[in-house]
Amino acid sequence: MTYTAPVREIAFCLDHVVGAGRLARTDRYADATDDARDAILTEAARLCEQVLAPLNIVSDRQGAVLENGVVRTTPGFREAYKAIAEGGWVGISADPEFGGMGLPMTFTTAVNEMMSSACLSLGLCPLLSQGQIEALENHASDEIKALYLPRLISGEWTGTMNLTEPSAGSDVGALRSRAEPDGQGTWRVTGQKIFISWGDHDVAENVVHLVLARLPGAPSGTKGISLFLVPKFIPDENGAPGQANSLRVVSLEHKMGLHGSPTAVMEFDGARGWMIGPENGGMACMFTMMNNARLGVGVQGLGVAEAAYQKALAYARERRQGRTPIGDGNGAIVDHADVRRMLLRMKTLTEAARAICLDTAFSTDMARALSGDEAAAWKARAAFLTPIAKAFGTDVGNEVAYEGVQVHGGMGYIEETGAAQFSRDVRVTAIYEGTNGIQAMDLTGRKMMDGGAAARALLAELRAVDEPSGRLGRAVDALARATDWMLDNQPNDRFAGAVPYLRMWGLTLGAAALVKGAAAASGDDARRRAALADWFLRAELSAVPGLAEAACTGAAPLYALSADDLAA
Ligand SMILES: Cc1cc2nc3c(=O)[nH]c(=O)nc-3n(C[C@H](O)[C@H](O)[C@H](O)COP(=O)(O)OP(=O)(O)OC[C@H]3O[C@@H](n4cnc5c(N)ncnc54)[C@H](O)[C@@H]3O)c2cc1C
Repeated sequence: MTYTAPVREIAFCLDHVVGAGRLARTDRYADATDDARDAILTEAARLCEQVLAPLNIVSDRQGAVLENGVVRTTPGFREAYKAIAEGGWVGISADPEFGGMGLPMTFTTAVNEMMSSACLSLGLCPLLSQGQIEALENHASDEIKALYLPRLISGEWTGTMNLTEPSAGSDVGALRSRAEPDGQGTWRVTGQKIFISWGDHDVAENVVHLVLARLPGAPSGTKGISLFLVPKFIPDENGAPGQANSLRVVSLEHKMGLHGSPTAVMEFDGARGWMIGPENGGMACMFTMMNNARLGVGVQGLGVAEAAYQKALAYARERRQGRTPIGDGNGAIVDHADVRRMLLRMKTLTEAARAICLDTAFSTDMARALSGDEAAAWKARAAFLTPIAKAFGTDVGNEVAYEGVQVHGGMGYIEETGAAQFSRDVRVTAIYEGTNGIQAMDLTGRKMMDGGAAARALLAELRAVDEPSGRLGRAVDALARATDWMLDNQPNDRFAGAVPYLRMWGLTLGAAALVKGAAAASGDDARRRAALADWFLRAELSAVPGLAEAACTGAAPLYALSADDLAA
């Protein structure tokens, strides 16, 4: 079985859970009508099902290679990328002044889910361009915008993000790459960056790097970092790719999965760069790209979860083993209670992650569409939801892919089913773009520097959801208590419980979304959704009080043993 894009489910979530219809009532997104959305979802579904999905397994077996200094990607990627670019899928939310469609991130997010389901490796390429486009729209000079944005938006050129160095991973502030003025108003960037996704390739004619580096004498840490745009080929006077810049791919990594995405070690050797944003203010500019990418990576997890679920369900309906406890006893493994448990878990977690990711995108859009206090409230909501979307979305991707292997039994461990590929490919989503541990620390640190205002506003929304069994209410109470505890305690005590705290949010927001969906549905769909919500509340949401205890334990027990004790 191949991938079938869940167009109806996405539309249902947008309409009845997120309430995305509000977008078309704003001036900025007046064109984001239901008709426009349905046309986009249907067309993107066709591309993902017919063009991208067949390449997924090929990309695993024939991943990117570096040959004589040239990166060659999976056969078929170039044509498929061309179809993505020509379909306008890179620039759905980009500025119409430069060729974008100007539609909400909510729509982009829905499309990105499908791309991630169909072929995670290839979908990562336009995802990076989208983040770079947003960073340039917000921080670049008019000249840079005019030159680069039309080509990035059309997909003729692609974008990358260059943060990581051998000694600067989670601690970006430790980076050593440097940039010196060249007397021509531009900069010479020197240094090595590692793990650069789509750092070079053969699917488009130019690669535009956004590189973090330090100016001579810059302060240490993140306060001394500037951002540079460094093209692979420097555009000539007509804007066409001209002279090769002084940069090269040293090697490509051999990875656990995501083989189709070239992950490059990049060497910049006095490469010509253009500064984006102010001197020493590069981190703030890069955060525009990073926030875009954090949501995008959460959606990668969601996309793989959906694809892994579809594959597992299809297998479970075919495979026969043992006597099944319902019907005539000759049913397929889908009728065994434990297989049902796995499938229900996969389906409900996927729907929970979808609702959170779409809600995050929607909040970002509302912040852009409105003004004043209203915009500020949506902005704070989006900022609070972003680490949850990233970490919960990718945890769900990993957990659902894991269950997908388990549903297949031994065949899950055999590569030909493709179940194992989902598990291998999605693993990195919990690591890159800030590990999920770092996301949880962001949630309990920076995102609570407002004194808990954003958290409490969301808690109030959760309390307003009508759920008669009381299970949702109890989870919200536990979450409210854990939130108070976080606000009352010191950073390292918060960080010690940050991961379980973020999980509490993911499960509770997800449960509320399932309950809302069940209440809004009609006919047989209402029965189906009520059963899914009921199961999630019992089997998944029930973990929340236990997680609260873990979240509010503090750091002391973690340091009860020394590092030497751990080795004893
Ligand atoms: C396939 C792939 C693609 C990538 N693509 C890109 C890319 O395009 N551009 C780019 O710039 N980078 C990219 N990366 C790099 C990625 O973002 C980093 O690997 C990631 O941020 C983690 O950094 P690190 O690997 O140095 O791990 P480390 O920072 O060494 O972390 C190791 C462990 O320690 C934990 N840890 C570290 N610091 C703390 C702390 N302060 N508190 C608590 N725990 C901590 C981490 O959570 C993790 O569990 C990619 C990586 C991979 C594997």
